[in-house]
Amino acid sequence: MNTSQPILPPAMLGVLGGGQLGRMFVVAAKTMGYQVTVLDPNPDAPAAAFADRHLCAPFDDKAALTELAECAAVTTEFENVSADALHFLADHTVVSPRGDSVSIAQNRIQEKAWIQKAGLETAPYQAVCSLDDITEASAELLPGILKTATLGYDGKGQVRVKTLDELKAAFETLNRVDCILEKMVDLRSEISVIVCRLNSDNEQTFDPAENIHEDGILAYSIVPARLSADVQQQAQDMARRLADELDYVGVLAVEMFVVGDTHSLIVNEMAPRPHNSGHHTLNACTTDQFQQQVRIMCGLPPADTRLLSSCCMANILGDVWKDNGEPDWLPIQTDLHAYLHLYGKKSASRGRKMGHFTVLDQDAGTAFEKAQSLHAKL
Ligand code: ATP
Ligand code: MG
Repeated sequence: MNTSQPILPPAMLGVLGGGQLGRMFVVAAKTMGYQVTVLDPNPDAPAAAFADRHLCAPFDDKAALTELAECAAVTTEFENVSADALHFLADHTVVSPRGDSVSIAQNRIQEKAWIQKAGLETAPYQAVCSLDDITEASAELLPGILKTATLGYDGKGQVRVKTLDELKAAFETLNRVDCILEKMVDLRSEISVIVCRLNSDNEQTFDPAENIHEDGILAYSIVPARLSADVQQQAQDMARRLADELDYVGVLAVEMFVVGDTHSLIVNEMAPRPHNSGHHTLNACTTDQFQQQVRIMCGLPPADTRLLSSCCMANILGDVWKDNGEPDWLPIQTDLHAYLHLYGKKSASRGRKMGHFTVLDQDAGTAFEKAQSLHAKL
């Protein structure tokens, strides 16, 4: 369904998923005076704490989806929601992002095809859906990474391979599900650009974030990215081109690799939602990525995305809850330029995203050093 009139407070908005992204979405929506319904099967879903209504049911529960469809508009906080659920909702209310955009982002084979369709570079790759797809020609892509086409995140569902024999073994290890084989590229750094798009006349991008991973999980995002202004501009143009090609409506995160001495950019993947690498926008930008999500689903143009201060966002994983004791928040809480965000998750475990903090500083490199030193004190 499509409405031409913007949806205004105190309308009820719906969100599929009640994790930390859903929680920050709810906070943004509530702050603007909207009401929010969250659908999430977890009774302790982080977003439910702030929502007006929590439909505690599976994501494909027809009765719950029918209730959610009564909201003035619905969005999602994660990409692995079934496209069927989004299509069902779209028959009754305004849904963004659209189901077709979400299903493209769910599948690396489709995703890569769309990136190329937008005229953008990817790492050289091929689809591997059966053993027969592995031929002599596949050797061109070695050393490479075999990635499952669906359901991969935080580096899961990936095997690095050097030879055709290793490639075949890896395909077996991944249970012969549809995969893509990607050539290893000469990665110099990783960045992401968040595009906020209502339509071709109303589109904004945030400055690229430089992302530092540890054990396959995002650890720090540094903004502005330590790259030339030209490369940063090019990254924003590329992200926008991809959003245009998809005629995307909503918040889209585009991950890119900075490759080789020339710092050329290739697109790795996209997420049809706010992204962990955009959490700094909560403290460092005129508008944050969750406010943009609210605005766009309500048919409002995305607002100004200006970066007000250089900064570094640091993730807080469950790993820092030693012996189940609460980490020491005092150093962050007493720092006048650090901002703590905790997601209210009931239990901490290794690799689980429990919160983040953002350090502001005149210089992004200094912000990164300060964030590392504060993180070491947790
Ligand atoms: P996430 O959920 O954290 O985004 P993911 O599981 O979806 O991760 P990718 O982003 O595709 O997986 O890959 C994880 C990491 O592996 C990348 O951030 C990058 O460091 C490395 N990597 C992936 N593809 C390549 C490649 N073709 N060449 C070199 N390094 C790569
Ligand atoms: Mg990734």
